[in-house]
Amino acid sequence: MIVERADEVLEKYGLCDHCLGRLFARLGKGTNEERGKAIRFVLNMERASQGLPPLEEPERCELCGNVFERIPELVEKMIEGSGEIEFETFRIGSRFPDEVIEKERTIWEEFGIGTAEPINREFNRELGKAFSRETGKEALINSDVVFIVEPYSGKIELQINPIYVYGRYRKLVRGIPQTPLPDFEESVASIICRTFSKAFGGKCIFKGAGREDVDVRMLGSGRPFVVEIKGPKRRRVNLKEISREIDVSGKVEVTGLRFISAKEAEEVLTKSHRKEYLALVLVEGSVTPEEAEDVARKLRGLEIRQRTPWRVRKVRADKVRVKRVYETEARWIDDKHFELRLVTDGGLYIKELISGDKGRTKPSVSDLLGKKAWCERLDVLNILED
Ligand SMILES: [Zn+2]
Repeated sequence: MIVERADEVLEKYGLCDHCLGRLFARLGKGTNEERGKAIRFVLNMERASQGLPPLEEPERCELCGNVFERIPELVEKMIEGSGEIEFETFRIGSRFPDEVIEKERTIWEEFGIGTAEPINREFNRELGKAFSRETGKEALINSDVVFIVEPYSGKIELQINPIYVYGRYRKLVRGIPQTPLPDFEESVASIICRTFSKAFGGKCIFKGAGREDVDVRMLGSGRPFVVEIKGPKRRRVNLKEISREIDVSGKVEVTGLRFISAKEAEEVLTKSHRKEYLALVLVEGSVTPEEAEDVARKLRGLEIRQRTPWRVRKVRADKVRVKRVYETEARWIDDKHFELRLVTDGGLYIKELISGDKGRTKPSVSDLLGKKAWCERLDVLNILED
């Protein structure tokens, strides 16, 4: 059957061994070229026994134009084009002209062939094997880089896949925004990213799991964040050294840096963590230690209905969020101040929880106290794991 079919095809189209073998790719093992050679060999024996001339491999294949012979040259180009980029794994994609793809389909249909493999699949595989042999790099689906090859023009495009690094940051001083803002020279993001950009030789994008205000410190074990490095020239970077270099800033410290996948990065950023805060509360008139204790006790376990704060109404959707307060502890300081330590759901605005935000947050410390209260100073002590 195979030999008969091959005979019909080759009578009409002069195909190379690759293109012949590929028609029967799903039958048996080995490369298409080996399969093509074997089929032609048997076919020509049969033809000889019938006194017919052999169907030899043509000078130029009618389907592929001997494109597989260009592989060594393309491998050289790939090596040249990627010389300055550090990578261990790669993937190949190829752009074949429509007329080649269509001609291949015509042959399948004309001879009712259902066992074939498309030409770019074979080409990608064979080019990948040759590149691996030359460089020792590994072909992988989730690769460091992707080569997009135009086999006939020899044009090669190199796509460098981004790197994701997870970590936690502590903001040790007030007065730095998380991400760049006008009127601020530095941000948590710029302090972290300048080290990453230098080390990886790519563009660094910082994303925090939530944010704290400019005047709020981020203490304890720190806030989770992810950096994405686009187009990195280097991938094997010592994260401990990056960590040390960022810590030298004296303003931001990072811990627990590790490489993660794009999917993990997404999960880090969308997960909502409980948070522990320490707020310094200023009370209008005066406050007694008993009143402070009383507020803390009443807040514990409460559900808070919080409409988007007045001060961020222009940058956040206006809606009512329902968040819970889990733990509270009050420490009286003087007749105008007490400290309030809180553990709450992520996304509860603490300054507004204290002031009440003109009735937009209910209940609030002001409500429970029966006196106006404000948050004079705030620190995020911890972002808790679930
Ligand atoms: Zn061919």
